Amino acid sequence: MKKRTFLKSSSLAIASSMLPIPPLHQHHIGTNWSGNLHYSAKRLLQPRSVEEAQDMISKSSRIRTLGTRHCFNKIADCQEDMISSKELNQVLDLDVSTQTVTVEAGIRYGELSQYLHDQGFAVHNLASLPHISVAGAVATATHGSGILNGNLATPVVGMEIIRADGEVVSVTPEDQPDTFAGSVVNLGALGLVAKMILQIEPTFMVQQDIYRNVPLQEIEGHFDEVMGSGYSVSFFTDWTADSVNQIWIKRRVTDGEEIKADSEFFGGKLADRNMHPIDDISPENCTEQMGVPGPSHHRLPHFKLDFTPSSGAELQSEYFVPRENAFAAMMKIQEMGPMISPHLFISEIRTIAADNLWMSTAYERDAVAIHFTWKPEWDAVMGLLPKIEEALAPYDVRPHWGKLFTLSGETLASRYSRWDDFKALARDFDPDRKFQNDFLAELGI
Ligand SMILES: Cc1cc2nc3c(=O)[nH]c(=O)nc-3n(C[C@H](O)[C@H](O)[C@H](O)COP(=O)(O)OP(=O)(O)OC[C@H]3O[C@@H](n4cnc5c(N)ncnc54)[C@H](O)[C@@H]3O)c2cc1C
Repeated sequence: MKKRTFLKSSSLAIASSMLPIPPLHQHHIGTNWSGNLHYSAKRLLQPRSVEEAQDMISKSSRIRTLGTRHCFNKIADCQEDMISSKELNQVLDLDVSTQTVTVEAGIRYGELSQYLHDQGFAVHNLASLPHISVAGAVATATHGSGILNGNLATPVVGMEIIRADGEVVSVTPEDQPDTFAGSVVNLGALGLVAKMILQIEPTFMVQQDIYRNVPLQEIEGHFDEVMGSGYSVSFFTDWTADSVNQIWIKRRVTDGEEIKADSEFFGGKLADRNMHPIDDISPENCTEQMGVPGPSHHRLPHFKLDFTPSSGAELQSEYFVPRENAFAAMMKIQEMGPMISPHLFISEIRTIAADNLWMSTAYERDAVAIHFTWKPEWDAVMGLLPKIEEALAPYDVRPHWGKLFTLSGETLASRYSRWDDFKALARDFDPDRKFQNDFLAELGI
């Protein structure tokens, strides 16, 4: 790949080189969302414009980008500078003819979705919570569910990235298909994504219905059918019974008309009240259920924007295997149920359509994701992860980039065919590895 064929320099880097770097903010950097990680950076830089960000990056010797702090591992951490995209959060352009929106990459899905809805548009899918930034989500291949739905990185159709030298590089699939495929799911290794262009679609309505206690024997042989029964389908289970605790089915609704849900589904019973994924937690922070149609951004996430998502202090891990191995992989975890469940709040199982983004967890394979929301019991969880990874090894398991895992870089390199190309791309964008942190170094990236 020739760098010059894809770089578009910005004169802004030079124009802004005189801006001062803010003073040290030691001790104010704080923790990630869960509180399991105290960031170790000396400074938190918070630019209010692309020009400020360019200036800060060019002057820093070691730096990592920070979104809304929802990762559970050290992927965003750095011992010197962290640069937050919190203030880079505006919608810049809505192009109705191409159905694309250009955003500053720090915008959160909650605000973006509401803006789009007001204009008659929507993003194709959302994660379980709307509180995360677009750039942070895309960088780690964050996903929702749906057999036909790619993860949240797949609607990206253009990006502007501030490289280590402060230059702004524009990357599009038309002009640099290979570079583009390598740089969307970027693990924060290439620079600060300042702007993104996302493919959107006309606004759509969704209803969600929940079935309880669906026997595993009913799912066996019907996994795709069950997962394909809605636009986005999630299983919630704690691996303690021969059934899945809850199946959430999110269906697209036309003309605002509620689809009447059957009272039984593969042996499960239709819930007669709103539910939280964990049976005995109040559902008040969950999005509306019981078949009531609503805008997609009020139904696709499980949690409302203005409530605390999930159960609070917790740890998370998630593993991706090919969808064809879904039931077998679930059975491996089910066998480990007695070991896992004492430390678990809940597991969620979702599907993601294959894509062509080099570091995506669904790269070139339709995936099923087996997620674990753990109790905040660090030692127990870190002891269990290698066992889960070993159990899922026959399926070439890949971990979620933003959650806890113990797989080595060597193992992961064997599960991502473009691993070495991604390493080369990172070196191309950032020859001095200013954006490399311990997390990437340990993986050999
Ligand atoms: C309660 C909860 C629920 C979750 N639900 C889901 C879910 O449903 N599905 C799922 O897949 N994941 C889920 N996650 C995980 C989460 O979506 C990812 O960890 C995501 O990356 C978090 O985005 P963030 O903005 O908080 O990024 P951060 O944690 O702040 O950063 C993540 C990565 O993005 C990089 N980054 C951030 N901003 C930029 C930028 N502007 N340019 C370049 N790189 C950048 C960082 O360097 C880092 O490598 C959940 C997490 C929590 C806490």
